[in-house]
Amino acid sequence: MGKPTGFLELDRQDRTYLPKEERVQNFREFIVPMDEPDLKAQASRCMDCGVPYCHNGCPVNNQIPDWNDLVYMGDWQAALTNLHSTNNFPEFTGRICPAPCEASCTLNIDDNPVTIKSVECAIVDKGWEEGWIVPQVPSHKTGKSIGIIGAGPAGMAAAQQLARAGHDVHIYEKHAKAGGLLRYGIPDFKMEKHGIDRRVAQMQAEGVTFHYDTHVGVTVTAAELEAKHDALILSGGSEVPRDLPVPGRELDGVHYAMDFLPQQNRRVGQEPIGEMEPILAEDKHVIVIGGGDTGSDCIGTSFRQGALSVTQLEIMPMPPEKENKGLTWPDWPLKMRTSTSQEEGAIRDFSVMTTEVVGEDGKVTAIKCTKVDENMAPIAGSEFELQADLVLLAMGFIHPVHDGLVEELALEKDGRGNVAADTATYESSREKVFACGDMRRGQSLVVWAIREGRQCAREVDFFLMGETVLPR
Ligand SMILES: Cc1cc2nc3c(=O)[nH]c(=O)nc-3n(C[C@H](O)[C@H](O)[C@H](O)COP(=O)(O)OP(=O)(O)OC[C@H]3O[C@@H](n4cnc5c(N)ncnc54)[C@H](O)[C@@H]3O)c2cc1C
Ligand code: SF4
Repeated sequence: MGKPTGFLELDRQDRTYLPKEERVQNFREFIVPMDEPDLKAQASRCMDCGVPYCHNGCPVNNQIPDWNDLVYMGDWQAALTNLHSTNNFPEFTGRICPAPCEASCTLNIDDNPVTIKSVECAIVDKGWEEGWIVPQVPSHKTGKSIGIIGAGPAGMAAAQQLARAGHDVHIYEKHAKAGGLLRYGIPDFKMEKHGIDRRVAQMQAEGVTFHYDTHVGVTVTAAELEAKHDALILSGGSEVPRDLPVPGRELDGVHYAMDFLPQQNRRVGQEPIGEMEPILAEDKHVIVIGGGDTGSDCIGTSFRQGALSVTQLEIMPMPPEKENKGLTWPDWPLKMRTSTSQEEGAIRDFSVMTTEVVGEDGKVTAIKCTKVDENMAPIAGSEFELQADLVLLAMGFIHPVHDGLVEELALEKDGRGNVAADTATYESSREKVFACGDMRRGQSLVVWAIREGRQCAREVDFFLMGETVLPR
């Protein structure tokens, strides 16, 4: 603990954002980083608690007090080494993690947590700038070969860990580039994609082979890969979206969020948008159904495309403005949060159920809604209609795609339709086939995908070698 009185002397200060009028003009990141003296001062607020709840709040168990201290002391390189010992890709989490660590920080008891996420991001960004992040090529090869299906954050983390342990690692990805939802779901204004390319280059130098445009279970059979490799890891994500089964759902202009968002990411990345008609929000009244991260990303993307208005509807009631700390801390509290995209001008409404999509000449023109009570029952007389030219469905994902890969391998599923595997061994119901990330745990967060990829890699290394030095 560098400065024992830091938390008494200094208030929380965090990164700022470019003004909304400016940032909606393009798809670039808009976080304004803090300068070095401010970062050091913020890191000095860490109390180095005897029981650091932030360790547990962070799904990869980042050793937060240790690197806060190192940053305060000015030893950025040691801070980076420490950070990388628990997190393969801190530049991803430093940008898009919701930071459950900060909710569990002891200083959050009075709403003043350490700016953990910003310090994390600054450490790794400095590491890249200074050229400290280089490939870690293994000194020996094991002769074992591993196939990983899905190049999202879970598959990438698993691949990097296993390549560094000396295995021959091959990632099979159905899309043209790696990153999974980081690449094609999360918009560039939240995370620009050159950060993924940089990691891919590092991993290639460490010995990982990426096989793109390879749809396992469709363009190549899983059996073929099973025969080729000593172990398989399935990290294909949770891609089946929740639908809205109401009259009019089939009208033109009603789309899943994940039909809309990847098109824009591909435009920014100068990739072809695919066979679907372009879906654009320009000059349209947009309705986003669903109040989570995906909904927010639809809002920010719609504003940047020139939407006339964006309204977001959530079926759950409006959460409380402030949580009861005595009941929630150090856990992640349910409370009213406003994302940067919502802040850009979205109209938000809660306890709203959509009952019908209406249209003319096959095109959506409006949606019919009703307010619901706490049991989700419609409230008589509360019905209303909203003008709509584009309706985006962002109500979450129910489970991985079963057709193809999962069916071909005849894998057991859990009660929610995810690939069944526990977090002790990550082994599926089929020998030498492992599963991790959203495909195993269901729709979640990037930081959980990284954790599962790392832990799964350790179990695969142990399975193949009978011993392992990889961390959990
Ligand atoms: C729009 C959106 C916004 C989000 N925003 C955030 C956020 O701000 N912060 C956050 O922490 N989390 C966010 N998430 C959640 C986060 O992106 C996921 O939890 C995370 O990416 C899961 O990682 P994964 O590696 O398990 O799966 P994915 O990222 O889904 O990657 C799976 C990969 O497997 C590939 N694949 C699937 N099947 C096959 C097959 N048969 N053959 C070959 N390849 C295959 C897919 O193409 C994909 O590249 C968001 C999700 C969405 C949809
Ligand atoms: S990965 Fe997320 S939870 Fe962990 S320290 Fe970073 S911001 Fe916090």
